[in-house]
Amino acid sequence: MAQQGTTADVVGIGAGPSNLALAAVVDEHNRAGRPRISMEIFERKPAFAWHPGMLLDGATMQVAFLKDLATLRNPRSPFSFLSYLEARERLVDFVNHQTFFPTRVEFTDYLQWVAGAVDARIDYGTEVVAVERAEEHAADGARWVVDYSGPDGAGRLRARSVVVATGLRERLPAWATEGPRLFHNHRLLEHLGAAAFDPHGEHRFLVVGGGQSAAEVVQHLHREFPSAVVESAFNSYGFQPADDSPFANRVFDPDAVDDFYDAPDAVRTELMERHATTNYGCVDLELINELYAAEYQEKVTGRRRLRFRPATTITSAITADDGITVALHDRLSGAESTERYTAVVCATGFRSTGVSEVLSGWDVDADRTSVARDYRLLVDGEPVPGLYVQGATEATHGLGSTLLSNVAVRAGEILDGIERESASAEAGLTVTVAKGA
Ligand SMILES: Cc1cc2nc3c(=O)[nH]c(=O)nc-3n(C[C@H](O)[C@H](O)[C@H](O)COP(=O)(O)OP(=O)(O)OC[C@H]3O[C@@H](n4cnc5c(N)ncnc54)[C@H](O)[C@@H]3O)c2cc1C
Repeated sequence: MAQQGTTADVVGIGAGPSNLALAAVVDEHNRAGRPRISMEIFERKPAFAWHPGMLLDGATMQVAFLKDLATLRNPRSPFSFLSYLEARERLVDFVNHQTFFPTRVEFTDYLQWVAGAVDARIDYGTEVVAVERAEEHAADGARWVVDYSGPDGAGRLRARSVVVATGLRERLPAWATEGPRLFHNHRLLEHLGAAAFDPHGEHRFLVVGGGQSAAEVVQHLHREFPSAVVESAFNSYGFQPADDSPFANRVFDPDAVDDFYDAPDAVRTELMERHATTNYGCVDLELINELYAAEYQEKVTGRRRLRFRPATTITSAITADDGITVALHDRLSGAESTERYTAVVCATGFRSTGVSEVLSGWDVDADRTSVARDYRLLVDGEPVPGLYVQGATEATHGLGSTLLSNVAVRAGEILDGIERESASAEAGLTVTVAKGA
């Protein structure tokens, strides 16, 4: 339970990588003996977890481990992945492993290690339901009052700054109604466990989507259910490889944030479209090759369990107690078909809620808000003091916004902003650092 009656310097909403990176830089600031900054993070999950529904055996990171929570900001940070390896006594073993891409299981353990080590209080099982403005010129310097609901009921915490990092929400197609036989891949393991599909049953699964998650789910179901048929329906003709070539990868560099933020809107949009396959609708080439090899092997043996349906869309899905009936449209031939499946997994991506969920009580339309270069919320182009946004900034700050690539540097920039605002508040000034700061 949060410390009632106190005022936190920084309240983080969401204990994912973004706010953990912020907690790491706040901790380093405090260790350096500078005036202590208190940080409290609210996390609605009951315990630390990083995309647990997709914690698939053997799945690896899509980003080099050096893009951890701290290294690009401070290579000597006590919260780097290398410091974690040293603490876990696996540094030499990891070096021998000769990979830049640890498994997601290991990276989750790293994130959990940081969560347990940083100088920040993390309240799990606690959901922030609203953020309201504190009274003007409050004696404690609070600008915000954060309303939350936790294991002990509802509570409020006053804060000088609030950093919203609530991540993305699952996106289901219009034809899909979530249930035990139809669900988003983000909760795959949870749903598979709850439905308790017999591992040796002769199931028929359909995976919808053509990105990395879809391909991972196809492989997982194919491996874990050795008697099941696994079908994969996607829009393109074949899985498109992720572009992780070095020049293209520069779209994720810390400097790219300035380039994208300052670019004319049309140019930014065009470049994001050109480089979409660095992240969207694309699959690791290694995984594409593995799936191809698995399908080819089945052609050799004649025991076909893996089936790809290119250029195929779904038009309806009707769930019954014993299965789900799906209408498919083959865009190449124009053929319509109706098939029966055990379950359908929608690997159909995510949507950003921005700050709209926690600011739902505000009388501000989402289209009047955006985010300043220094990550403060802008309303009608004016920065809102002490309210920062991480993640939901792709349209302004570029393709790295929702990823790990830039969390370390971004966290440092946000702390700089918080300190700048706090120094100005002490001097009785208002800081208005907007575009290009
Ligand atoms: C399966 C999967 C694999 C991925 N792999 C990679 C990868 O390899 N490399 C990469 O760069 N990116 C990857 N990503 C992208 C990923 O989203 C980011 O890496 C990272 O998780 C973003 O961190 P975040 O803290 O901004 O958001 P999140 O990790 O989504 O964390 C947000 C947190 O906020 C909490 N929350 C939300 N609302 C509230 C509320 N109102 N009150 C309290 N808590 C709240 C949520 O429970 C959640 O824990 C992957 C994404 C998925 C889904």
